[in-house]
Amino acid sequence: MGKDIAKDLLAWYSKQGRDLPWRKTRDPYRVWVSEIMLQQTRVETVIPYYERWMARFPSVKQLAEASREDVLRLWEGLGYYQRAHNLHAAAQTVMEQHGGLLPGEVAELERLPGIGRYTAAAIAAIAFNTDTLALDGNLRRVLARLIDLTVEPRSTEGERALRQWGPEQLPRGRASAFNQALMDLGAMVCTPRGPACERCPLSMHCLAFKRGVQDQRPVRSEKRRTPQFHAAAGVICRGGKVLIARRPEGKLLGGLWEFPGGRRERGETLEECLMRELREELDIEVEVGPPLGTYSHAYTHFRIQVHAFACSMPHGEPTLLEHEALAWVYPTDLANYPMGKIDRAISGDILQGGEC
Ligand code: SF4
Repeated sequence: MGKDIAKDLLAWYSKQGRDLPWRKTRDPYRVWVSEIMLQQTRVETVIPYYERWMARFPSVKQLAEASREDVLRLWEGLGYYQRAHNLHAAAQTVMEQHGGLLPGEVAELERLPGIGRYTAAAIAAIAFNTDTLALDGNLRRVLARLIDLTVEPRSTEGERALRQWGPEQLPRGRASAFNQALMDLGAMVCTPRGPACERCPLSMHCLAFKRGVQDQRPVRSEKRRTPQFHAAAGVICRGGKVLIARRPEGKLLGGLWEFPGGRRERGETLEECLMRELREELDIEVEVGPPLGTYSHAYTHFRIQVHAFACSMPHGEPTLLEHEALAWVYPTDLANYPMGKIDRAISGDILQGGEC
């Protein structure tokens, strides 16, 4: 069975596989960058970022030597910023400990910052053709349907079944094409909702399809509700400049600049929240003025709505208590400071509205 699956899958892949920019080469650095960018992010979103990144940092050496600010500026908008910090740190480790060449063994790759079990397997398979299967959510779904797995793929039993059956289908010496073929099948044909079984090259081998249960696979656990939070941010202007602060590394959006503020606590109004946050974070007293806008964003585990307010600070100077750095910036210069999606939207509105 394994041989037939591989044969049919690879034949389909050679004709229908996606033409993606990182597939023009097997350069391990390029495969690595693409795999990190693709975590939690759609291919269409990644392509322009990948191309800009490669134009600016065409090698591990150039990435290792870049400033953190430069790295974050190029990553801005792609989200999950810890990925950028880890890529940067790992490039420095590769220069110092591996002579600038990414190692080819899964265990060695896993020792680098930001490279987990899946990414290590993906790099080893795609770039080095190591006989291994890179099992992520996409591949788990495809394999779970092929064997009609009746338990959750991530349960101990499900994981064991997939990790045993999957590699048995892998044709030795073809790991690079085989993994990418499965990735493409999951993205283009065996999609999460409404798999296109009628044009699937593996329908002859697929147990879920034979039993007509493909829409019920993979088995899913009940989803928990995503919590929602409200937060307030202050746009504090003085002498035509606005105050921004850099978030500490290691925290969500670490190293990025923001308009200071924070999460509302139970029973607080947004204005009270903002005054308390600015007192705690910067040791300043502000007068909260009119609202400037409301901005929403969904992270993996929660959603947040940020309410921005114009603020004035009649006296005092902000103190660095919880941030890494503070800066008073002309609104026209805000583009030079890497920011998360919400703060970038606020800075766009400041520019448009002529605040400060
Ligand atoms: Fe997925 Fe359908 Fe193909 Fe089975 S036949 S692998 S369910 S697309």
